[in-house]
Amino acid sequence: MVTVLGSTGSIGVSTLDVIARHPDRFGVFALAANSSVAALLAQCLAFQPRYAVMMDEAAAETLRARLPADCGTRVLQGASGLSQVVTAAEVDTVMAAIVGAAGLPSALAAAEAGKTVLLANKESLVMGGHLLMQAVRSSGARLLPIDSEHNAIFQCMPVDPGSSVPSLAGVSKVLLTASGGPFRQWSHARMEAATPDQACAHPNWSMGRKISVDSASLMNKGLELIEACWIFDLAQDQIEVVVHPQSIIHSMVQYLDGSVLAQMGNPDMRTPIAYGLGWPERLVSGVAPLDLIATARLDFEAPDEGRFPCLRLAREAAAAGGTAMAICNAANEVAVSAFLDERIRFTSIPRVIEQTLELMPVLEPSSLAVVESADAEARLIAAQQVATLACSVRKTGLA
Ligand code: NDP
Repeated sequence: MVTVLGSTGSIGVSTLDVIARHPDRFGVFALAANSSVAALLAQCLAFQPRYAVMMDEAAAETLRARLPADCGTRVLQGASGLSQVVTAAEVDTVMAAIVGAAGLPSALAAAEAGKTVLLANKESLVMGGHLLMQAVRSSGARLLPIDSEHNAIFQCMPVDPGSSVPSLAGVSKVLLTASGGPFRQWSHARMEAATPDQACAHPNWSMGRKISVDSASLMNKGLELIEACWIFDLAQDQIEVVVHPQSIIHSMVQYLDGSVLAQMGNPDMRTPIAYGLGWPERLVSGVAPLDLIATARLDFEAPDEGRFPCLRLAREAAAAGGTAMAICNAANEVAVSAFLDERIRFTSIPRVIEQTLELMPVLEPSSLAVVESADAEARLIAAQQVATLACSVRKTGLA
């Protein structure tokens, strides 16, 4: 039985699409979202889960009232509801696809309960990688990466099917590919005037708005670099970011003998999702086969950290270690949200992150409480930076 956290989002919808193609293989135990009542209601009617969880209390009440009397779905609310549906004995697989830091406690609970965790929520590893990987090791949980790059790396690394733990035997480097996002060829001046819709218009992938902005700023690649360090136990300098605008190669692993293994496919998240759901078997995903003749060419270039400072900031946070990654992640979430609300410019996102990192001490991430406290404090400081920048946007139009 599968629990899908973030079922109303882009990854959640793709997960349910793959599940619906295999009714004999998967049952849906629970679906969870924040406040999208209409979308969750439609999913409950289609998939008949035992539980539906809404974080928002009023939304949970509305869903309860709207579900037909003969529907067997029970509505739960809040963090305790999430915890219940990831740790239940009937659940073997949890899709962790809540967006942002909000996804950490439930992903951690699933790992502690020894489940197979299909991890899409990269922010939880960035924030609490130490805690999450420790929970996986001590409970015997299986962590399968869903982020397309990490899924590709996983597919290209030697993996012992008994343990699902990838081995670094013979590996010299990981080549983490990046599409470059919608602003790959934009000047800094043009990016200063970028609108949220322009930032969310990704050339190859259809995704939620937060990750789309991360993709445009290259913070997504920075978060993924940190994610790769945790999942594959790599040092930063074992990972090279390569911009590959077509998003056909989803990442590569280079071996000591000069071999480079790449995982390719059309840019559609149903491939890594089906891989995670079926592992170690391959499942039909609904993704169209790759047409290499139509693709015609594959290009590669180095990332430009001058125009895209977020990648550098993520690298610096990873090098600083401890709670620096949680601080970087929280400041980014605050800045992205302010940009999406048109309170700050796109180019102010790295300024908010850098200033927040400068203003906060880095601590050992010894417990969830320490990480959550760093996250909360970083949000306050980042919000102050946003307020200052938003004020100068109003006054001068130049933040
Ligand atoms: P979306 O914004 O499309 O969806 C987010 C989901 O999380 C929604 O179901 C939303 O519910 C739910 N949610 C938001 N806040 C909370 C909360 N506080 N508690 C519980 N649920 C919440 O995001 P994506 O699907 O694009 O991304 C999900 C995760 O997967 C992110 O971490 C992203 O980085 C990662 N990812 C996404 C990829 C993609 O292609 N989209 C690719 C690789 C990784 P509601 O609808 O009610 O708001």
